[in-house]
Amino acid sequence: MSKIRCPYCGNNNIGKGKLGNHAALMPVGKIFTTGSAIIADVCIECGTIIRMTVEKPEKFKQVD
Ligand SMILES: [Zn+2]
Repeated sequence: MSKIRCPYCGNNNIGKGKLGNHAALMPVGKIFTTGSAIIADVCIECGTIIRMTVEKPEKFKQVD
């Protein structure tokens, strides 16, 4: 059960999509890394992408 509701059409039928491989989000300033795939919550009624999260947020930790 998803608690997410589309802010545009009010539908709570939310699907998940994944942007992988070449659409992966890469951490800035890190060269030798594979980055992380992006997970998108998509309203299956109107197609709005409600939320985008990275699969592995720990990859974006900044090291001083
Ligand atoms: Zn919608």
